[in-house]
Amino acid sequence: MTRYIEKVCEEVVENYRNPAKRGGERGMAGNYAVRKKNIYYDTDGIRENQVESVMICDDCAGVLKIETLSSVNPLSLGIEVPVGACDRCTSEGYRILEQGRSKNKYSYIKFVNRRDREYLDY
Ligand SMILES: [Zn+2]
Repeated sequence: MTRYIEKVCEEVVENYRNPAKRGGERGMAGNYAVRKKNIYYDTDGIRENQVESVMICDDCAGVLKIETLSSVNPLSLGIEVPVGACDRCTSEGYRILEQGRSKNKYSYIKFVNRRDREYLDY
């Protein structure tokens, strides 16, 4: 499961960092760019709903939050603080983590802080 969220995070970051694949405007700094995805994996017959939120930041790539729910996995939360994240985005990452944990809404939470190499699973 942990590996799974990790993989999802990596793919999302990949897409996000690749402007060719990214549609739309970047929006205002400090806001979240939200993108919803419905994915169907033919081979496994798995249906997945993903909501990706990326904090728009002028100083770094921005903290990333992913909520994912599929026919095989309960609602899970993934948070990634990117390499070179600014202080604001790093603290925002921890804020999302605390918020997610207090809500009792997620079955799994994966927190990846690439700036300080901190990896947490709940
Ligand atoms: Zn930032």
